Amino acid sequence: GSGAHVPVLVIGTGYGGSVAALRLAQAGTDVHMVEMGMAWDTPGADGKIFANTTKPDDRSFWLRTRTKQPLSNFLGFPIDKNVNRYTGILDAEEFAGITVYQGRGVGGGSLVNGGMAVTPKRENFATILPSVNAAEMYGTYYPRANADLGVTTIDPAWFDSVDCYQYARVGRKHAQRSGFPFLFVPAVYDWDYMKQESAGTVPKSALDAEILYGNNYGKKSLQKTYIDRIKATGRVTITPLHKVTRVSPASGGGYTVLIDQLDTTGRTTVTKTVTADRVFFAAGSVGTSKLLVGLKATGALPGLNNEVGKGWGDNGNVMCGRANHLWDPTGKVQSSIPTGGIDNWDAGGAFAEVAPLPTGIETWASFYLSITKNPHRAEFTWNAAAGRPELNWQTAWKQPSIDAAKTIFDKINRKEGTIYRTDLFGTYKIWGDHLTYHPLGGAVLDKATDNYGRLHGYPGLYVIDGALIPGNVSVNPFVTITALAERNIERIIATDLRR
Ligand code: FAD
Repeated sequence: GSGAHVPVLVIGTGYGGSVAALRLAQAGTDVHMVEMGMAWDTPGADGKIFANTTKPDDRSFWLRTRTKQPLSNFLGFPIDKNVNRYTGILDAEEFAGITVYQGRGVGGGSLVNGGMAVTPKRENFATILPSVNAAEMYGTYYPRANADLGVTTIDPAWFDSVDCYQYARVGRKHAQRSGFPFLFVPAVYDWDYMKQESAGTVPKSALDAEILYGNNYGKKSLQKTYIDRIKATGRVTITPLHKVTRVSPASGGGYTVLIDQLDTTGRTTVTKTVTADRVFFAAGSVGTSKLLVGLKATGALPGLNNEVGKGWGDNGNVMCGRANHLWDPTGKVQSSIPTGGIDNWDAGGAFAEVAPLPTGIETWASFYLSITKNPHRAEFTWNAAAGRPELNWQTAWKQPSIDAAKTIFDKINRKEGTIYRTDLFGTYKIWGDHLTYHPLGGAVLDKATDNYGRLHGYPGLYVIDGALIPGNVSVNPFVTITALAERNIERIIATDLRR
């Protein structure tokens, strides 16, 4: 309630926030988690908590009156439709040069993501997080994150036999025929459940196109892993539909936090004030960066350093599709959980996931999300006249990503005698270069913070999410975000909370 005093307040309930809350609670500290999105624990009128990608509805988007689907077109036709403005699950947040997709709700990005749980190659780690001891990460914190997220890899024999991965087998065949290594990618899905979906003995989830707008059954989102354990501690309160707007030093020590309670149309119904001894910023790369640049510029936290807002990247995300020959169908039913990737990172700067196109009809399309070595970094700044944060990313900055992805797909197209699809992102548009699923940076480790996420100038304020990572992890990011949070919170508990 308003006026309360709490030892620890965590802003956001994604990977970083969940790690912080669990470990602090296990160490005996009471924690309050504040989440702007909904709880996502109650079924809608159709008996399901989440909608699927073939039928987006009000639940699917955060405060929009028209859907903004990542694949905006099909066979050249726009597929977006009107919906009611609602505190839905996927935020398509538009900045000048890029749309940044993010999860909203208790569980953050784990609610909407593809569940691909990838640990970067150790030889790349020094370029990802140069100030972090790799031996500790690969010896302790990556294993801890993988175990506690429930990361496993698909049974290769089942993969080879089942209709729903026909699309991935076609992707593997084409990759290998062009000489590219194809790797199985670990995931946070219950594979036994997927086998039962395939056998028709349980309600379908991955096999019913559930991705982007939530997953009703088989995916191990944070709700089923870290947050389940958080609840079991009895020390953590999670408050959904509450948005933190301001953090500033309190006169008696600690920090005063202003929180807007939202209704499901996004309107503020009441503003609450809470005092916290410590505050963890875990609002995601974009959420944390926006808060910090605003707090610095408006005088709430003027002593934050000039690194705040900097070092933001898109993890080099770029999408494309290829049109296969008629003898290479990719399947009517496609599992929404990707299981394979094409590795050309060292030679071409691209790691491409063979992604599903779960339309329910045969499309003869192979679809890919590439993670690329894109050198561009953008900055969040505060637009004082407009009273809001801005991001200076430019669409043209995706060109290095397109060039990197072409090192894979131009070669495959030449070998197979195939062409790019031009109907998925507009008419006659090959590259999905307008978006990212993987925002990273904005409060970079060892720059805006010390080497464990402590914000310079303000004892008791921490960053513990994707904002710490400078723009690129070479693979999908959530395992690295989780592992880094595990590393940092262990140090913070040992040195800041015990005395
Ligand atoms: P988040 O998980 O984004 O959590 C931040 C939370 O803070 C959110 O719940 C947000 O609502 C809340 N919040 C923000 N501002 C405030 C505020 N002011 N007050 C209160 N609460 C606030 N990564 C992978 O590794 N593998 C994948 O397969 C994959 N697929 C993806 C697919 C999609 C469609 C998307 C969108 C992302 C995908 N990602 C994937 C990325 C991954 O989900 C993110 O990198 C990850 O969730 C980031 O974790 P985080 O802890 O930094 O923040």
